[in-house]
Amino acid sequence: SEEFAGLTAIVTGGASGIGRSVAELLLESGANVAVFDLNPDGAPHGALGLQCDVSDRASVEAAVESAAAEYGGIDIVINNAGIGAQGQVDANDDAEWNKVLNVNVVSVARVTAAALPYLRKSEHAAVVNTSSIAATAGLPERVLYSATKGAIYSMTLAMAADHVREGIRINAVCPGTANTPWVMSGLMSKAEKPEEELRQLNARQPHGRLVEPVEVARSIAFLASPLQGSTTGSTLAVDGGMQGL
Ligand code: NAD
Repeated sequence: SEEFAGLTAIVTGGASGIGRSVAELLLESGANVAVFDLNPDGAPHGALGLQCDVSDRASVEAAVESAAAEYGGIDIVINNAGIGAQGQVDANDDAEWNKVLNVNVVSVARVTAAALPYLRKSEHAAVVNTSSIAATAGLPERVLYSATKGAIYSMTLAMAADHVREGIRINAVCPGTANTPWVMSGLMSKAEKPEEELRQLNARQPHGRLVEPVEVARSIAFLASPLQGSTTGSTLAVDGGMQGL
């Protein structure tokens, strides 16, 4: 369908995993897509791949201006780039805390703020942030990561309130463990028997399998869609029922 025809979307982290899947889906649905990524070579065919570090303000501002110049504006921002962090409260030093907070959290403010002048001019402005089940579930050994995803969750609600009267909708998805390169490479690198580990990981999900990136991508596209003009400040679980446990 051409649901997104004439609209321009930024997808951060759009060269891999969930972000790449979103970029593909938006392209198929008629959008112009600019991918902001450290390694834009992985951006899908048809996207404008821009080398961008979302933890760096100058890099973000340059990429936003390039995307807006290429397509004549920006309607949609998908704040999806993120990195992991493991461990209990004493596991990460200050440098690691600052780095992961910067990449995962401050980036959401930075990219959205840089795009805001363009979003204000759009008839169909929408922001979708990738939070996580980690925001609300109390996952073991994920203190820093959970802090970042909880911050994204809360920012989504506060930003939605701030911009609703300007017609800018702001929502989030909260994926469970998804079958992306990030999760798979982690599994393969540390497991002695990766296949057994994968079987156990699947079995730990309430619906018996990992979440597929395209399922998260479809939920992100749903929230970004110009057809969902009354949906703002919502946090959509895409976790196979994990949140209810
Ligand atoms: P991924 O590693 O497959 O893709 C992430 C992309 O972000 C990569 O292309 C990477 O180059 C890019 N990136 C990383 N740091 C960046 C930076 N500083 N600037 C620009 N780009 C950068 O990861 P994924 O599994 O698709 O995760 C995407 C998002 O989904 C993340 O925010 C993650 O926290 C969230 N999430 C993932 C899962 C999961 O199980 N995979 C679950 C819940 C939430």
